[in-house]
Amino acid sequence: MRFIYIFGLFLIVSSMQITGQVVSENGQLQVDGLYLKNAQGDTIVLRGMSLGWHNWWPQYYTPETVKWLKEDWKCSIVRAPMGVDPDSGYIKMKEWSVNTISTVVDAAIENDIYVIIDWHSHSLKTKQAVEFFSAMAKKYGSYPNVIYEIFNEPINNSWEEVKKYSIKVIEAIREHDPDNIILVGNPHWCQDIHLVADDPIEGYDNIMYTVHFYAATHKDFLRERSDYALSKGIPVFVSEYGACHANGDDEIDYEEWQKWLDWMDANAISWCKWSIVDKVETSAALKPKTPTSGWTEDDLSESGKASRKLLRKYAGLKD
Ligand code: MG
Repeated sequence: MRFIYIFGLFLIVSSMQITGQVVSENGQLQVDGLYLKNAQGDTIVLRGMSLGWHNWWPQYYTPETVKWLKEDWKCSIVRAPMGVDPDSGYIKMKEWSVNTISTVVDAAIENDIYVIIDWHSHSLKTKQAVEFFSAMAKKYGSYPNVIYEIFNEPINNSWEEVKKYSIKVIEAIREHDPDNIILVGNPHWCQDIHLVADDPIEGYDNIMYTVHFYAATHKDFLRERSDYALSKGIPVFVSEYGACHANGDDEIDYEEWQKWLDWMDANAISWCKWSIVDKVETSAALKPKTPTSGWTEDDLSESGKASRKLLRKYAGLKD
């Protein structure tokens, strides 16, 4: 990452996605103030796609899909959301779930990109999360590729409860992994970042906080809350967002999407877009029955085409 100073503005220029040697070149990530930095201490911005819930779209939890997202979509990061609560999720199908997530983590390591291991739950399950992340940190803590997202989107819990939970999970991870980035969620689908700003977690390094938005629903109010958090020194990572409505569907709001992109660029905030699934839904990047890789324009939905184009543009490609 380089900064070029022109006319009083810092333009952020990413070079890492063009070469493809994302983790080899950037190594162990660290949080310094508001910013995500690479091993050399340069600010970096990771941009990529989130897969869908592993329990409903396991067909895209493959090495081929990860390789395609890196090589064709120019993702420097992918997110692996492990469904926790559904019948086919982690609680009821633990071994299969861990194996499915591990396939994507291993593929990200193989393809030299970063990967988020996401506890994709809306309810608080401290004991199970501690067990899971302890095992993941033990297995993957020595790989700089891995980022832990410990609570996707709390809904009914207060920040006090989420904070207490987060500290327990952070401690479990840090027993095995002293340094990889940990993303902490906050109430109301990760929109109560202002509550974090007034009462952040103290005493741990390499912690960032998630903001999730759906551009057609969440507009100025959430950017203002996020600006408030930044002003209080809270490092933000947009680990999931959509360009459509909060239901994942209906129309794409291109104007608000661009406002969010400008805001994230201006603040050097990393992001993953929702999602690599073949559902009939606006936020789904793929059309039904799309194979695991080798996608053509005909395989992609409107949001899929726009997302691919955007990621390739950030990687310095013209189309
Ligand atoms: Mg580590």
